[in-house]
Amino acid sequence: MAALKARYRAYSDYLRERFGTKVYKLPLKLPVTCPNRDGTLGVGGCIYCDEEGAGFECLPSSVTVEEQLARNKEFFRRRYKAGKFIAYFQAFSNTYLPFELFQKYIRSAAETEDLVGISVSTRPDCVSDPYLDFLAEVGREKNLLIDVELGLQTVNYRTLLRINRGHTLGEFIDAVGRVKKRGLEVCAHLILNLPWDDMVDVIESAKVLSALEVDYVKLHSLYVVRGTVLGEMYQKGEINIIPMEEYVARAVTFLEYLRPDTVIQRLVGRGPHDKLLFANWGVSWWQVVQRIEARLEELDTYQGRLCDYLNGPALRKRFGEAQGGDPGE
Ligand code: SF4
Repeated sequence: MAALKARYRAYSDYLRERFGTKVYKLPLKLPVTCPNRDGTLGVGGCIYCDEEGAGFECLPSSVTVEEQLARNKEFFRRRYKAGKFIAYFQAFSNTYLPFELFQKYIRSAAETEDLVGISVSTRPDCVSDPYLDFLAEVGREKNLLIDVELGLQTVNYRTLLRINRGHTLGEFIDAVGRVKKRGLEVCAHLILNLPWDDMVDVIESAKVLSALEVDYVKLHSLYVVRGTVLGEMYQKGEINIIPMEEYVARAVTFLEYLRPDTVIQRLVGRGPHDKLLFANWGVSWWQVVQRIEARLEELDTYQGRLCDYLNGPALRKRFGEAQGGDPGE
């Protein structure tokens, strides 16, 4: 198993190396929504989003932040013998709040015992300088690792319009720059098998994330939920979902083009069980992960093998290593 993991930089290994113990994320749900659902940008949301907004694993938002953290901590300690924790503001857009309220929630989480970090999931168009300055300040004060998770899904801005994201690539680039400028870390979410994307988009996604020095990546396979626009398209036969082997090939290629130091938090997504029309080709998410790991072995390939396109590749090719820069810098 260790040999397999070494072919990409897995999050669990990274956390253990960094903190010297098992670290688990404690999922949190705030009473927030999303500008793509509340009418600010749109009402329908992204075409694949159901009303849970990725919070199906969380306790209800009516439970206080302190209580959610305490209950989840107890669960992870008992079940996985976790030693340290990251408070994970997971569902919807967690910076889409009045500033004072955002500060209150973050400060409550930051007081938790055995906390090593805070992770805030949001949209690229919902981060701004004051919110980021505040996060950086809390990180310094409490000695916490802070990361901002940004949904991008694809770098193909035409696909972003089709899936009704309500933002395009430009907002993502802007947000990453602002987050990183403050010494905070960035996690980017991608869906590798959106029906309008192909391998060219997958490779370009890896290149853009590498160029922006994104710290973490979460890859998702598309899941189709009943009651969404995508669900309707699926039921009417208007979209095609690529076979699992093609998803595996895309994930492997993505890893090959990605910087070797980017940490991989996920290789495949999980959806809410009760409303699914399609997810992971009818197999468990971990079986898809196993297929990707097996394919890396079969091809004897690894993360970063093709990451040679940064820092003047044409200069390196024409005039040698000394005159083109190091692609890893
Ligand atoms: S940004 Fe997230 S929460 Fe908002 S509509 Fe899209 S998937 Fe749903």
